[in-house]
Amino acid sequence: MTAGFYERIHVDDKNICKLFLKEISEIYTDMELTAEELELLAMPRRSFTVHFPVRMDSGKTRMFIGHRVQYNDARGPAKGGIRFHPDLTIDHVKDLAFLMVLKCAVVNIPFGGSKGGVVVNPKDLSRNELEQLTRGYIRAIKNFIGPFKDIPAPDVFTDEKIMVWIMDEFERIHGEHVPAVVTGKPVELAGTKARHYSTALGGIYVLEQAMRKAGMEKNRARVAIQGFGNVGENAARLFFEGGYKVVAVSAIEGGIMDPAGLDIHKVMQHHKATGSLLDYNDGKNITNEELLACDCDILVPAALSDQLHKGNADEVKAKIVLELANAPTTTEADEILFDKKITVLPDVLANAGGVVVSYFEWSQNLTGSYWTEEKVLQKLKNIMVSSFNDVSSACSETRCRMRKAAYHLAIKRVLDAERLRGNL
Ligand code: NAD
Repeated sequence: MTAGFYERIHVDDKNICKLFLKEISEIYTDMELTAEELELLAMPRRSFTVHFPVRMDSGKTRMFIGHRVQYNDARGPAKGGIRFHPDLTIDHVKDLAFLMVLKCAVVNIPFGGSKGGVVVNPKDLSRNELEQLTRGYIRAIKNFIGPFKDIPAPDVFTDEKIMVWIMDEFERIHGEHVPAVVTGKPVELAGTKARHYSTALGGIYVLEQAMRKAGMEKNRARVAIQGFGNVGENAARLFFEGGYKVVAVSAIEGGIMDPAGLDIHKVMQHHKATGSLLDYNDGKNITNEELLACDCDILVPAALSDQLHKGNADEVKAKIVLELANAPTTTEADEILFDKKITVLPDVLANAGGVVVSYFEWSQNLTGSYWTEEKVLQKLKNIMVSSFNDVSSACSETRCRMRKAAYHLAIKRVLDAERLRGNL
């Protein structure tokens, strides 16, 4: 960590967001942040834990723990997903909420950042218990969410059915319709077109700008994708349908590769039929480590955090890494890739398409007028292209990694809002 960081701020270590410490303590001197600016950004504005009862199918009541962190809302209502996970901690929620602040600021949408969730393995619950858990959590945080306060969305192990329960519980409490309280709802009930593939498509829009800049042609580009869930599978399908050669895909069980290119429609059928990518007829089985090191032009981590680290970053052969997952590259790996002249399109830019289309859903809910898929896609493209251009020019000015440039840009925008509000 950069010397002098702690001396400048009057904040106890345990209150500082860990991700903030890791990322910002390295760059605050380049950014010439003052001690008061650092202090203002180092801690979430509101972070709380609730304990709430749920009546289980057995008739017995069980207590559950939920968290919500509203990191910063200087630029607009806080925005961030709800995660149901057995390992969820308040510190991790703080990190994820901080990332949401940066993401919304990089793509310049009028939101702050938040995150939340419940400590639970939803696979252990019946559908009825899952619904009661969701409704109980919303009753516990009801005073702190709302279309102009904090707007939840899906995250790990939560989906559109859960978003409808959130909306319905909030509306019962308030006695009126408030669809804009949550995004990620089904199209049939106040959702927006294109939400389910917006993260993957937003990433591809960003990638195409980077490829144009690097003089790369998409028809010759070979793509490898780690992760075959909501983001990875949609990315594989869109790359394939867009004329790219997808040479490798993987999921938790491992992956498959064909240097001549996989037919992703057939791979999707195989995955659906067998529940696994392995043993596909027209490809050979590979491990996740082999996928990350395979011969390709574009590597797309779309699964978990910390997949590219100092132990394997040197093996990467791609020219561009498109981070569709959150935080898939460690700081050490980021430096190794930069030294190898590999362009890393950072998560706060590359996977922001999801929150951009959530913003469109919120806007449609507030006006009550719903857009065509073409209109959603055109507006998504405009925002992703101009955000790439903003980060790219900040990068050329400072000659730094794109991640640093994106962080600089986001923090500047948040601090500008704080200054205009009179907080600095
Ligand atoms: P998901 O749960 O639908 O899919 C995750 C995929 O990762 C699955 O295919 C799973 O098999 C695979 N996986 C799990 N462990 C693995 C391992 N050890 N090695 C390789 N693959 C493994 O999740 P998702 O919604 O597709 O999200 C993927 C990533 O994208 C996460 O980091 C998430 O935070 C990020 N993200 C998602 C969205 C969104 O709109 N869904 C938006 C922004 C960022």
